[in-house]
Amino acid sequence: MSAVVLRYEGTRAPIREFGILIPTARNRPEQILSALRANPALGSESDWLIGPDGSTIARADLERVHDPAYVDRLFGDGLESVLVSVFELIDEHGAYHRYDPTIATRPLSQMFDGTLRALAGSYQCGREALRRGFCFYLGGGSHHGHYAFGHGFCVVNDSVVAIRRLQHDGEIRRAWVIDVDAHKGDGTAALARGDESIITLSVHMAHGWPLDLPELDADGSPHPSHIPSDIDVPVAAGEEASYVPRLTGALEELSRYPRPDIAYVLAGADPYEHDELPSTADLRLTLNQIYERDVEIFDFLRRLSIPQAWLMAGGYGERAWEPYPPFLSHALLRKT
Ligand SMILES: [Zn+2]
Repeated sequence: MSAVVLRYEGTRAPIREFGILIPTARNRPEQILSALRANPALGSESDWLIGPDGSTIARADLERVHDPAYVDRLFGDGLESVLVSVFELIDEHGAYHRYDPTIATRPLSQMFDGTLRALAGSYQCGREALRRGFCFYLGGGSHHGHYAFGHGFCVVNDSVVAIRRLQHDGEIRRAWVIDVDAHKGDGTAALARGDESIITLSVHMAHGWPLDLPELDADGSPHPSHIPSDIDVPVAAGEEASYVPRLTGALEELSRYPRPDIAYVLAGADPYEHDELPSTADLRLTLNQIYERDVEIFDFLRRLSIPQAWLMAGGYGERAWEPYPPFLSHALLRKT
């Protein structure tokens, strides 16, 4: 079985149709696919592109990871208020922020159906990786989903939901999560804390969101965004040249943990120098540095014969698709 790309079937409507004004690319998956189709070395797309297999994510799958009271809100009247909070659509003064309900053509609540479809893709990506060695899902990577809340555009944590489902079904025992999105994988670190079956590695901006959140919540309890990953690599502004060497060192450290049955990789494009989300401005990797980053992880896992399930994670603006086709061409042309 050979490496594949899994089509995204999450929220089919552009986020703007819900009135949300976050600068997501018009259609990042389609732009990536167009570039791959234009590469004659890859051959017919039927050789490397697959679609959803009918997998679904049930409420019980979410309750294996998240607070049942939070899951209740998602499936009930509390959904809209959760979404307003996750997408930060109202500011501290009660005014709309990045949100204009007057341009919305769909109710916010419809977004959750898309979230569940997107989650099913992250789970299917893991199963395909187990069978084929490598699967890259053109969606997923909601690493800011926490036990009892979501933030940073992430309602629930898809990689942990997928891993716990695969564990529950007896398909895997151990997993690694390698997160190279610009933002710290705070939800993943918090959910996997104390769980030796999930080892987390996060390379991220040393400063800025979510690490600039207060250390303590209003009630005095520690804010879970500050819970460390098993391995954290904070990269400060101006340190781009050391990014890949430090990643290499972190992977070496990761290899000393027991070998997992699968690795999820969150390959955010938001460290890219042309990313348009203001909060990612501290990290400005070139196209070639992101290519080196991804090939480094791919080759590392391949050497260890660990199945690789890649999720797309963050990436904002018109050029957010650009880092993916070079790496995907590399991965698809190598048998894992
Ligand atoms: Zn991000």
